[in-house]
Amino acid sequence: MVIGSIRNRLLLGFGTLIFVLLINIVLTQIASRESTATYEELRTEIVPTITMLDEYREVNKELFLLSLNKVFGRQSDEQYTNRMKAITEVVLPHFKTKVFLLTQSLPPNDKKIKISENIIKLSNRSITIVKEINNLLLTRVDYDNTQRIGQVTQKANLDLSDLTQQIDNNLSLLQKEYNTRYDAHQTALSKELHNLSGIIFLIGIIGILLGLGIASGIINSIVRPINALQTSALQLSNGNFDVMVKTKGKDELSLLGHSFNNMAESLQKNFEEIKRKNKELEQFVYIASHDLQEPLRTLSSFTSLLEKEYPIEKDENSSTYVRFINEATKRMSRLVKGLLDYSRIGSTKELSEVDCNTLIMGVEDDLALTIGDTETILTIGNLPTIKGYTTELRLLFQNLISNAIKFRAKNRSPHISISAEIIPGFWKFSVKDNGIGIENQFHERIFAIFQRLHNQSEYKGTGIGLAHCRKVVEMHGGKIWVESIPTVGSTFYFTISNKQ
Ligand code: ADP
Repeated sequence: MVIGSIRNRLLLGFGTLIFVLLINIVLTQIASRESTATYEELRTEIVPTITMLDEYREVNKELFLLSLNKVFGRQSDEQYTNRMKAITEVVLPHFKTKVFLLTQSLPPNDKKIKISENIIKLSNRSITIVKEINNLLLTRVDYDNTQRIGQVTQKANLDLSDLTQQIDNNLSLLQKEYNTRYDAHQTALSKELHNLSGIIFLIGIIGILLGLGIASGIINSIVRPINALQTSALQLSNGNFDVMVKTKGKDELSLLGHSFNNMAESLQKNFEEIKRKNKELEQFVYIASHDLQEPLRTLSSFTSLLEKEYPIEKDENSSTYVRFINEATKRMSRLVKGLLDYSRIGSTKELSEVDCNTLIMGVEDDLALTIGDTETILTIGNLPTIKGYTTELRLLFQNLISNAIKFRAKNRSPHISISAEIIPGFWKFSVKDNGIGIENQFHERIFAIFQRLHNQSEYKGTGIGLAHCRKVVEMHGGKIWVESIPTVGSTFYFTISNKQ
């Protein structure tokens, strides 16, 4: 498969769909044009002709009735001549012209031409007869004359009624022809409409199937690989480097998958390298702090000896110096011990179920003296049982609680509340105090090792406590941060993953 084939596949799929839609448009246009033509023929030619022939027959019938009435003498001459005049001079010529025009529109050998010509011929004869009768009726003067004319017009009316019957026969014949055409057109129209709906239905089905095909193609070749890539990226961001995505072919997403795999591989390499260096560093810190303890112990014991055995009265300055050395040595011992503890965190990795309520009760016991001396009020919420490293978690709570006591405000006794809530993927703990608070710009810095905001004379400490806390929290897949208002108090938040 060539590069860019997803694009090509999409173009092909949508191109085919557009092609099918175009065919649909063309076919429906053709089919609808056909049925429109049939309908137009019906509307403008056949139906009007049938109506016209109906009307013609009506008039013809009237002519027939007039002539018949005259034969039986049921009408006055005046009534008769007036109506006859109107029919023969206006109405009949009008219909004759219509029938004539009809013959013009028909193909040369059409049998309807003959019928129409007959109708015209018979109508002409009727008109002539009517004219003759009218003339005779007008010239009637005396009794003899009247008698004779009466006989002649009766005869002429008989002929006329005969003629009108012939005309009616022909008209009915012609009408039959048009009725047949009407039926044929109706049938054709319904067939064409049926075909049209068939075409629309068929192409609609093809369109739907094609659309489904394109959708499933998009899902298979685009959505699925993207989902797989997204899942892998998520796993990668959670620190799982074993997330190779399957790549087949050479389309854009396969290339993206390849690049992703390469990235994951090199990330894993870098991560391993960092881990190795970190371990080396921790080892170094451990060895250094461990080995420094021995000379420090010696230094400390000899300065203590010197302090004890060197009387102050002899040389006040020297004894002050010795005291300073002793204090500095002790401080250094504490720092080195803190460093050693820091490097030891997590060395005994054993996960267990830790009931935080019990854990805090232990911390409370350890700090009972300080809590009592400072009149600290400790409010503990309903804490969960979590999966974690007991010793480290205890150290975490101990550091946070003792800090909350240590950095208390001068004018009020410490009030500490500890609570926990569940958030997606984590337990979120908070340790809130009403102490001196921390300026905004130090909220990040205090978690780094040896970072302190006060000197020893104000608050004693090594600056390792919160670094410990951060290490413990990170061991549990979480984060630690502080929110604080100077002079009002601080809340330390940390999360512990609940998927250990
Ligand atoms: P240490 O307590 O030994 O000084 P930490 O690492 O525990 O070291 O704390 C670092 C610094 O953060 C402290 O020196 C202090 O200035 C500040 N800090 C920590 N906890 C609190 C708190 N609860 N209230 C106010 N400041 C605090």
